[in-house]
Amino acid sequence: MSGKDQTNPFLRSPNEVEAPDESGPVAPDEARLAEEERRRREAEADMEVAIIENVREGSETPVQPTRLKGSHRFQFRCHKGVSCWNECCYDTNITLTPFDILRLSRRFDIRPAEFLATYTYPSMFDRADLPVAKLSMIDSEGGKNPCVFLDPEAGCTVYEDRPAACRYYPLGLASVKMKGHESPEDFYFLVKEPHCKGHLEDKEQTVDEFRREQGVDIYDRLNRGWIDLLMKMASWKVLGGPWGRELDKRTKKMFFMATTDPDAFRRFVFETKFLDAYDIDPEFVERIKTDDEMLLKMAFDWLKHIIFNEETFALKEPVLQKAIAKAREEAGGV
Ligand code: SF4
Ligand code: SF4
Repeated sequence: MSGKDQTNPFLRSPNEVEAPDESGPVAPDEARLAEEERRRREAEADMEVAIIENVREGSETPVQPTRLKGSHRFQFRCHKGVSCWNECCYDTNITLTPFDILRLSRRFDIRPAEFLATYTYPSMFDRADLPVAKLSMIDSEGGKNPCVFLDPEAGCTVYEDRPAACRYYPLGLASVKMKGHESPEDFYFLVKEPHCKGHLEDKEQTVDEFRREQGVDIYDRLNRGWIDLLMKMASWKVLGGPWGRELDKRTKKMFFMATTDPDAFRRFVFETKFLDAYDIDPEFVERIKTDDEMLLKMAFDWLKHIIFNEETFALKEPVLQKAIAKAREEAGGV
């Protein structure tokens, strides 16, 4: 497979599952926190973060500068008769979303940890400085390196479960927080790489029509929390990390585990003091024993809580009181 480093510094062994810190997220003093948050919001205004961007390494600025909304029209058609058939499946740089990993693992009837070890390599989402899994290419010693799922004759062998980036291509998905708006908005952009002749075909469609045809809605919906995390982390990154502090290695490992390996995250939830610390509806707890999508959603909410101090998760009252007492003690109060 790809010559890239296959050892994964973000994976943890089953024995490495640790108990959560019962004191909850660290709360910097309030005035500084408010000032830093104001600076982050300022930095975030109009900041574009490309989330899904399937561009081959070495391609020269193929991204078209126009921000597209759902109603925008563009000219493109991909079919087996194009001269560039499968060209886009070589040497491509594909970040797998959390839902990609679930879908593809199910296709092979394996669990995500085995899928990750077999078909992906660890990397970083640079804009946010957070770890992600990328799809492996097969090393062909000097020639073009095909995607691990490409059959040169038949094409994509996982077509029905292909990753979001492959569905979106030649579109990309980005998020932007407009000045004065509360939440980020999605928009799309067109990628025009010279090898892709689909742009010369005479079919025209709107972005929405293309998205429907490619079945990306469910991906965007289930990956929403992950997209929000990348987006928010990118805006903090320009200020050196959340409240001016770079994320520590342990939190990055947690992020990777929770967003790529539901079994490891499930063990973390059920085999540590996690459920003693957080106030979670017992029915929900029952569901996440088997429901990977629900567990993923909980993982995103929990990460927002521990990384950004968001109120997406609540500590149990005694744990909260203990955390407040500890914070007061550290601040020299009573
Ligand atoms: S998953 Fe399929 S469509 Fe995507 S790069 Fe690989 S072979 Fe191509
Ligand atoms: S038209 Fe573009 S997307 Fe389709 S096979 Fe060719 S390079 Fe890939």
